[in-house]
Amino acid sequence: MFNIILFGPPGAGKGTQAKKLSSEFGFVHISSGVILRETIKKGNKAGKIAKKFIDQGYLVPDEIVMKELLRESLKYENKAKGIIFDGFPRNLHQAEIFNKMLKKKGESISLVISLEVDHQELFKRIIGRASDSGRTDDNEQVIKRRFVTYELETFPLKEYYRNKSRLVEVSGMAPTDEVYSIISDEVKKRLKTLKVDKR
Ligand code: AMP
Repeated sequence: MFNIILFGPPGAGKGTQAKKLSSEFGFVHISSGVILRETIKKGNKAGKIAKKFIDQGYLVPDEIVMKELLRESLKYENKAKGIIFDGFPRNLHQAEIFNKMLKKKGESISLVISLEVDHQELFKRIIGRASDSGRTDDNEQVIKRRFVTYELETFPLKEYYRNKSRLVEVSGMAPTDEVYSIISDEVKKRLKTLKVDKR
C-alpha cells in the first residue's frame, strides 16, 4: 500500500491537494480534521472533548485522534491502493505510534510531501476562507493559536521525517494546479521506484 503524508501548516493547501491526488491516483483521502469534526457531530464524549481542543486551537488528545483514525483506516485495510494522510500525524508521539502500526502490517510511509507557504500568505488564506468554511476555529484568535501549536508540536516532525522517510519539500505559494503538478510528478516517481524495488 502506498502511504503518503501531506505535511504543512494550516492553510498550506493540504486538503485541496489531497483531493486532487485522490481523484488522479484513486487513493483514499483521510483527513484527521474532517474525522474529528465528524466525531464532534456525533455528540459523544470523545466529540465533546475534541471540540474543546479544536475551538481553542490546540491539538486534540492523541488517544482520541488515534482511536478515530484507526476506526476510519480499518475500513480501507487491504482494499485501497494507497492512503493520503492529511493533517496526521501532528506530533512526534502520533508519528511513532503510526510507524509501529504500519510496521505491524509490513508497511511503511512511502512519501512525505511538505507544503511550504510563508506565514503572511497562510494567514491571508485562512482569514479569506473563514466566512464560508463554517469552521468554529477559523477566527483570528484561534488561527494564531493554531500556528503556534503547529510551530511547537508539528513542525519538528519535518526533521523526523527527513531522517526517516522520503521527504520532499514543495512550494505551496504557486497556483493550486502548478503545485499539484509538482506533487503528482513526485508521486509518480515514487511509485516507479517502489515498483523497481519490489522486483
Ligand atoms: P485541520 O482540519 O487539519 O486544520 O484540523 C483542525 C483541528 O483539528 C486542529 O487545529 C486540531 O485541533 C485538530 N486536529 C486535526 N488533526 C489532528 C491530529 N492529528 N492530532 C490532534 N489534533 C488534530
